[in-house]
Parts: sequence; C-alpha cells; structure tokens
Amino acid sequence: METLPCGHVAEAGDIRMCEHLVAEQPPSRSYRWFTGRGADYARLCEPCAGVGLEAAITVCAGCVERAEKADNYGSNRGRPEFPRRDEVLAEPASVACTVVPRNEYCLAAMPGGWLALTDDGLVRIADDGSTDFVREQGYDESYDPDDPNSPEGIGDFEIGPGLHVSPDGRFAAVVTNFGRYGEVIDLSDGSLVHELDRTFEDNWTTFYPFAFLPGNTFVTATANNCLDRFDLATGECLTERDSSYGSEHYEDCFHGRLTLSPSGRWLLDDGWVWHPIGVLSAIDLRTWAEDRYAAEHGLPVSDPENDWNRPLAWLDDDVVAVQRIGRAWNKMIDGVTLFRAPAFEEVGRFCGPVGRMWAHRGRLHTVTDEGMEVWDPADGARTGLLKGFSPTAYDRATGVFAQLTGEQLLTWR
Ligand SMILES: [Zn+2]
Ligand SMILES: [Zn+2]
Repeated sequence: METLPCGHVAEAGDIRMCEHLVAEQPPSRSYRWFTGRGADYARLCEPCAGVGLEAAITVCAGCVERAEKADNYGSNRGRPEFPRRDEVLAEPASVACTVVPRNEYCLAAMPGGWLALTDDGLVRIADDGSTDFVREQGYDESYDPDDPNSPEGIGDFEIGPGLHVSPDGRFAAVVTNFGRYGEVIDLSDGSLVHELDRTFEDNWTTFYPFAFLPGNTFVTATANNCLDRFDLATGECLTERDSSYGSEHYEDCFHGRLTLSPSGRWLLDDGWVWHPIGVLSAIDLRTWAEDRYAAEHGLPVSDPENDWNRPLAWLDDDVVAVQRIGRAWNKMIDGVTLFRAPAFEEVGRFCGPVGRMWAHRGRLHTVTDEGMEVWDPADGARTGLLKGFSPTAYDRATGVFAQLTGEQLLTWR
C-alpha cells in the first residue's frame, strides 16, 4: 500500500477532500461540493469551496470518516446530477400591479384572483392587476433585523406572517409562521371571526399549523402538541378531548405546517419530537369525525434526524413528494422522496429539486434563485427552466402560478 496525499498508508476513501480538512485542527465548517456526476461530491473547507474541485486530493478512508462525522452544518455547493429534458416554456403574462407582499408567504390564490398581505393590510388583486383593500392588519409579530431581541425562526426561516385562503375565497387566515398568533378574517366584510393562539412552546421551530378543511371547518394548533378542528361559522371546537399531561393520549410533540391532499382525505403534519427528530405524519380526515384523537393517531411518513420544514407537495391524492433524500440531516442531498398513501411507503426518489415546491398535473414545480424549474417524477428529469420567474403562489383550481415584482403581477400556466 502506498502513502496517500493525506500522509497515511491506508485504503483510499470514497470521496476526495481538500488538504485543510485532514489537518490536525481542521476548520469547523466544510461543504459537500457536488461534482455533477451522480450524487458524487468532494468535501472542501470554506475558502476551497470558493475555488472548486481542483483543491480536492485523495485521502484515506479514516480521514474521510473523521471529516464526515465532524460536519455539523450539512452545507452543499452545486447540485447532484439529474437528467434534463428541458422544453421551452412560455413566458409569464404580465399586468401592472404595485402591490408588495410582506414576504414570500403573503400571497395566496382565491377565486378570481389573489390575496396579498402588505404593510398596510389585506389586499385583493384581480387578474387584471386592479386592487381592492380589505382590512388593516390587526397585529404584528415578526422578525425585526434591527432589534437584537427580535425572535428568529429556526435555520434560515424568519418569524413573520403567512396567509391561507379558504377554497371558496370567503375566509382568510393571517398567521405568524414560527410565531404564536393568528387571525381568521371574513373577507366579505373584513371582520375578525377567530383569534388563533398556539401558546408559547418553541413556536420558533415550525410554520404555523393551520389549514382550511372541507365542510366549512379549519384546523389549527391550540398548543404545541394539540391540533383542534373548528367550525368556521360558529367557532365551535369539534375535537374537544383530553390530551392533557399524564392522560392516555398525551403527546410530547410539536405540530408544524399542515398540508391538505387534493381531495381533502389526508392532512400532512410536519412536526418534530425530541431529540430532535422530524416527524412528518398523515392524519386521516375521514376518521376525524368519529375519532376525536385522529390527530394523535397520525400515520408516520418520514422521520429524518433534525430535519423538518422541508418543502413538500401532493402530486395527486395518493403520492406526496417530500424534499431531500436521506435520513441524517447533515448527509441529506437535494432531491425528493415520494411516499404513497395509505401506508406511506417510499415509492421513489430522485435528485435535483430544491426550493419552494408545488405540484400541478403530475409535475413538480420548484423555485430557486435562478427561476422556476419543472420536474417529471416518472423519471426524475427536469423538463423546463423558466429563468427570472419566481412565483410565490399557486392556484390549484386554475393551475396558475403568480409572482408580484412590485411593478407587475406575473402569472404563468
Ligand atoms: Zn481547503
Ligand atoms: Zn488519511
């Protein structure tokens, strides 16, 4: 056996790394630099990651193992290889509109147009770009970058408002993602109909759990570990039950973003439990009428270490695409894993998709800094890239994606 460039007489490891990561005191942060061949990568320190692959040398298996273990960030540069069948996509349509949403979660589809939350309040936007002011925003619970005491969300997420609209367009919910409060608004007269409060337990870790459900109801968290369903018209809680500490159904968990399947059969709950482990689970809404503990009886979908708040989208009523491949959070690679109801077994995975994600007619649509990408889950190929279009809302009823640029409303179907 010969001496490897890392200085050890040993078997070569399965990845290459820069020399700085085999030093006695290696830098604390390193990056997986994808080579563009399959999911192969080299591991580079921060300065070398700015240069590229030429910094990578062959090192022994022991040096690889040590550096992989020391990675506490899970940072990536570049992307794994994926097949490309890019077709030319039509350019988005554009009309003048100067509405500026508070953030990327403050634009939502509604029949006949869109609803935005701006610094002034809720604004309805018609397809021709004309606007109609609904009401002022009642409270403000958001991240202030100038205030050192301002609460932050987990990872790259910031505490701030998010918007949901009922399928018939009658009601909207303004919630605080990674925060505590929310409101349900009747859009017909702008009145406040329900105040939402999920109490104070580690809210900074999850999107606000809220979803409009079939039958003029909605579901939200009334505590970190309790989801309740309410009647929209009366405000009555339809799921009164005992899940208190010490009771048979007590759960030590944190509910997160709720995503309804197209027919309304399944509700995905993107939560977590200590130490921490992501717990993506599916609540069967057909049983929630009889089983008051249906929210406690969710089916496990995926439970990666230390990872939740992952983009996900229902491809149809049975198959859901969930981003990132793998189980250990710092070993995951960009891509999606497909799970099929009702058992939610894994039925596929492919590399590539990253960023906010929606599904339309069996294709996944993702948004990166570059623009919108379209993916065919049948073979994992990218089938389109629309540069410069970064939609923040999707209308499931019409298949239209929308982006507000500050000057224009861009729409694409
Ligand atoms: Zn280096
Ligand atoms: Zn070595």
